Amino acid sequence: SREEVAYFGAGPAPLPTPVLEQGAKAFLNYENTGLGLAEISHRSPTANKILADTRAGLTTLLDIPSNYDILFMHGGGSGEFSAVVFNMVAVWVENRRRRAESELNGDSDKILERVRQEVRRDLRLDYLVTGSWSLKASQEAASLLEPIGKDLVNIALDARKDNGGKFGSIPPEENWKLSPRQRGQGIESAFVYYCDNETVDGVEFPSFPKSLDPGLQDELEKPLVVADMSSNFLSRRVDVSKYAVIFGGAQKNIGITDVTLVIVRKDILSTIPPPSFLHALGIWSPPAILNWAVVAKNNSLYNTMPIFSIWIAGQVMKSLLAFHGDSKLAGQEELSNAKAKIIYDILDANSSTYQVVPHTSVRSRMNICFRVCKGDAAIEKEFLDGAESRMLQGLKGHRSVGGIRISNYNAVSMTNVEKLAEYLKDFAKKH
Ligand code: PMP
Repeated sequence: SREEVAYFGAGPAPLPTPVLEQGAKAFLNYENTGLGLAEISHRSPTANKILADTRAGLTTLLDIPSNYDILFMHGGGSGEFSAVVFNMVAVWVENRRRRAESELNGDSDKILERVRQEVRRDLRLDYLVTGSWSLKASQEAASLLEPIGKDLVNIALDARKDNGGKFGSIPPEENWKLSPRQRGQGIESAFVYYCDNETVDGVEFPSFPKSLDPGLQDELEKPLVVADMSSNFLSRRVDVSKYAVIFGGAQKNIGITDVTLVIVRKDILSTIPPPSFLHALGIWSPPAILNWAVVAKNNSLYNTMPIFSIWIAGQVMKSLLAFHGDSKLAGQEELSNAKAKIIYDILDANSSTYQVVPHTSVRSRMNICFRVCKGDAAIEKEFLDGAESRMLQGLKGHRSVGGIRISNYNAVSMTNVEKLAEYLKDFAKKH
């Protein structure tokens, strides 16, 4: 039964049982309509209400300011790796076009020529690479930009460099090589991208990077920050106003797969241009289903959306709000931290058996990555087999890095963390 299994998989991940019980009913016969949620039109009033409720839940949990929009999209985190490039490059180009237009008195040939040169010369996309997912995002950017120009992706940080070629640290901000941020002329980043929690490598930003929040008054001087929060969404408080864009797939902390959440500042949406100028420059226009402005304009119903998945996400948000009350994500943050601390304390107290992979200061509260007996294959297998025999499941590290990974998402209960803690102690005693 569900109660017997303690699942720590990295995603898809466990969901609160009451949400799944409600979900089973809603799948068959939603609110006594005689139809299941996967059967109804995405354009029906019922679907519209589900979208509105889910948006409201997210807005309350994260205190999302009114100058942000919430989009439901397809394609998962990976789809957003591409969407970020398509949309933010379009925004960069449009800003340059507007500037050229005002300086060149609307002479369209000259405007086109000036922006054409600027794109090749000045456009940069800054990536902080702290693990496998930000690496993948940066590679997608480089691949999409290849026809426009080489070296437009600036790897402002490759965290492997100071760490023996492996992820596991976030070097000091003084060492990051961010592109200049004066907007409108010279070399200029379209955005600075980072992954708040690296699911494979167990590296999490402890807080918002200081150098991305230089305390400037002028909005135009601030970098546009884009963050992937796929694997730590809703696990702690976030100051949304520091970001241009936050995105994440739902399938870890928020719900089931099929729906991607994007929180985007409205001035970004209103700067995504129609295709004509981009095409005149020989640059792609964002494909419609990845175009944030198109999706926003259509209330996230540009095409058929998985209403059932959005409903599940809304129920998870509702259950978080009900559980934590007014403390909202502060309450969840405390709980997530407490669960992670139980595990890390045991790992640290038994350091001859367990070796945590990332540096102490950047340890993820969501994905706890460690080796058993320095990665001895036979002992790690014994560890996993022993866990399995106690119904502790989903502990195998990502295939690219090996080792053990405990995923401690919101729906992992304290009871299950305690069961795992017992096992960690017992196993360490044996070795
Ligand atoms: N970003 C992060 C941090 C992830 O953990 C994942 C998936 N595990 C992705 C992006 C890719 O997400 P998806 O599978 O939804 O494309």
